[in-house]
Amino acid sequence: MKKAKKYIKFIVVPLILITMVFNLTACQEKVLQQVDGEAFVLGTYGQIRVFAPSQSKGNKAIEKAFQRIRDIENTMSTSIENSDVYNINQNAGQAAVKVSDDTLYVIEKGIEYKNITKGNFNITLGSLIELWGIGKDWQRIPAQEEIIEAQKHIDINQLEVEGNNVKINDPNMLMDLGGIAKGYAVDEAVKVLKANGIESGFVNLGGDIFVFGEKPDQSPWYIGIQKPELNSSSVMARIAMSNESIVSSGDYERYFIEEDVRYHHIIDPATGYPSDSGVISVTILSDKAIDGDVLSTAVFILGLEEGLALIETLEDVEVAIITSDKLVHISSGLDDKIEILDKAYRMAN
Ligand code: AMP
Ligand code: MG
Repeated sequence: MKKAKKYIKFIVVPLILITMVFNLTACQEKVLQQVDGEAFVLGTYGQIRVFAPSQSKGNKAIEKAFQRIRDIENTMSTSIENSDVYNINQNAGQAAVKVSDDTLYVIEKGIEYKNITKGNFNITLGSLIELWGIGKDWQRIPAQEEIIEAQKHIDINQLEVEGNNVKINDPNMLMDLGGIAKGYAVDEAVKVLKANGIESGFVNLGGDIFVFGEKPDQSPWYIGIQKPELNSSSVMARIAMSNESIVSSGDYERYFIEEDVRYHHIIDPATGYPSDSGVISVTILSDKAIDGDVLSTAVFILGLEEGLALIETLEDVEVAIITSDKLVHISSGLDDKIEILDKAYRMAN
């Protein structure tokens, strides 16, 4: 009997130890904590979620990421005095301005996309954007003559870039990076999080989102597509994804209504008016948020057919286009990724 007891001890004690070691490893894996941060940046609601080894490490990384976003805002805002873009606009028709590498990168991307989008995306559309002033104190419907006059000053060929020196030759032309800077800021914020040891999380700047890594419980990341309706915060579909960006543009985001007509913030350079292509929402999936930011705006203006055709020519870019009849049109690679949650919306293809 005594011998047997001793024997049991020999088996049970190591067993307990093994279980303890296993539990410890499991704990170490699970020790990642969800840390959330939010701030008002780039004129929108910014949200960052990370899974970090501790609350303080998570908070520190989030604070640095928001600081990077604020730095980008301070160099690319049209309204912040002495930002690069402010200085370029102030010196239009007069002198070149030396800009940061960040601003140069975004401007060069913008110029590249002018051609890819057949001129529908234009970073020198400032004269028209200012005239409408959507979302600003001075928003109003301009007179037709004013629109025609502003349209004379949106030729991107008047933009001269030499090294880091940028000059607008037309004294009435204005630069506006509002359709591209947010996406760039998302990409840069993700870089900062990763450089600070964060392996998974997301950055969301008012609908420009990048998701990276895996959740500690290995469950998939589902990102919702907002219902493209006024004053709605619910989602109409969800997409399973990771290590890519998802960016939406829509006419429900920023607008004013006059005599039952809605005037929104995505301006069609060809007409000088808010785009009226029959599209109400565009969601782009891509490797970088900067591309998604530009392409969501551009496809919105291009409309269903041309927009879908453009995306099919681009590698590793997918799109979901919602038309005003509540049909959802997707590019070929999105088939098994999107799930419609709201029955008012239907798949078109
Ligand atoms: P998003 O919210 O990303 O669709 O971008 C809209 C913002 O981009 C507007 O608020 C303007 O600042 C700017 N924008 C509007 N229309 C255009 C356009 N056709 N090309 C480039 N930027 C634009
Ligand atoms: Mg955009």
